[in-house]
Amino acid sequence: MSPAGGNGHTTTQPSGGRGSTASSGIVTILARALREETLSPGEIGALLAAGPRDRPALFAAADEMRRRHVGDDVHLRGIIEFSNYCRNNCLYCGLRRENRRVKRYRMEPVEITDAARQAVNMGFKTIVLQSGEDPYYNGDVLARIVSEIKELDAAVTLSVGDRRREEYELWRRAGADRYLLKHETADPELFARLRPGTTLSQRLKRLYWLRELGYQVGSGNMVGLPGQTTEILAADLLLLKELDVEMAGIGPFIPHPETPLGKCPPGDWQLSLKVLAVARLLLPKAHLPATTALGTVHPRGREMGLKCGANVVMPDATPLQYRAHYQIYPGKAGLEADTRRILAELHKMIHSLGRRVAADYGHTPKWENIISGRNYYAPMGTGHLY
Ligand code: SF4
Repeated sequence: MSPAGGNGHTTTQPSGGRGSTASSGIVTILARALREETLSPGEIGALLAAGPRDRPALFAAADEMRRRHVGDDVHLRGIIEFSNYCRNNCLYCGLRRENRRVKRYRMEPVEITDAARQAVNMGFKTIVLQSGEDPYYNGDVLARIVSEIKELDAAVTLSVGDRRREEYELWRRAGADRYLLKHETADPELFARLRPGTTLSQRLKRLYWLRELGYQVGSGNMVGLPGQTTEILAADLLLLKELDVEMAGIGPFIPHPETPLGKCPPGDWQLSLKVLAVARLLLPKAHLPATTALGTVHPRGREMGLKCGANVVMPDATPLQYRAHYQIYPGKAGLEADTRRILAELHKMIHSLGRRVAADYGHTPKWENIISGRNYYAPMGTGHLY
């Protein structure tokens, strides 16, 4: 994809270019983005293609947009990865059912709520319950776990994959606030190839269900998937915009050796930062994590993500004895460290950036009628949320 609007002239980047110069085409696109005008796929492609000269201006614009719409707060969400069983066989994932080398585990419901209690006691205001697609935890079991965690006075995010609409509704009624369901890639053929037996349209149908049920909806994609093009990445970003997600998780693809993609090169961390920055420009009010995958491919990945538009970090709050076995990709950051230590380091890093750790639940700023973490934000089943 060729950069749109570039005429080769050079101009000083006025919005925080840190002394660097950016090409006039990029400056024009960024000025339009900062005026919150709609960018074309070509303009998005141009931003994704930004080279060393243009990157600082892109990152500065994303940082400005982040500050303007979601402020300096960084939200910490504690993830509990409670089961690494999965019925699916995604080509990129170490938890795929055909990976016989992974040591499978399931946490008992009481272990999950205990881990959540500990996380809340450490200061987390959101608990993210994540697992492979594991029907062992049926609708009722998960609903009970959700309502027990809600009693701890925390927001609850679920990330348990494709399930029936009735189950999503049950969990919403039990108090679940948010649901993460990454679309992974907006290209239907690539999606079907990477996630055998599933389709992008089924995934999108579920995202619309979640929307109708009043969840704060999260989606997202990987960067650097084999077969992915700049056009597909631009389509990923436009899809996130069309879905108007409240959260978007964007991180590099990291090959797992025990998968069919084990020998493919990893996603580029700089491209991942650019995708994150453009996501901030397109989705000013979304919660965007500096992902663990970004922190895995680069030791300062999370810090850089926070400077390129991110406003969320999701530290691992899974009990240590299970943590090493939840390997969607290898080398995951923070496997060995005690959660309290991870938290202390994160606080230090966040303060060093002149930012602060949020003290609230970190609900979407899009909805203004939120009174507490226990509230529903919209009637269920109306199909119209705001
Ligand atoms: S990506 Fe998710 S659904 Fe696919 S194999 Fe991994 S855990 Fe299962």
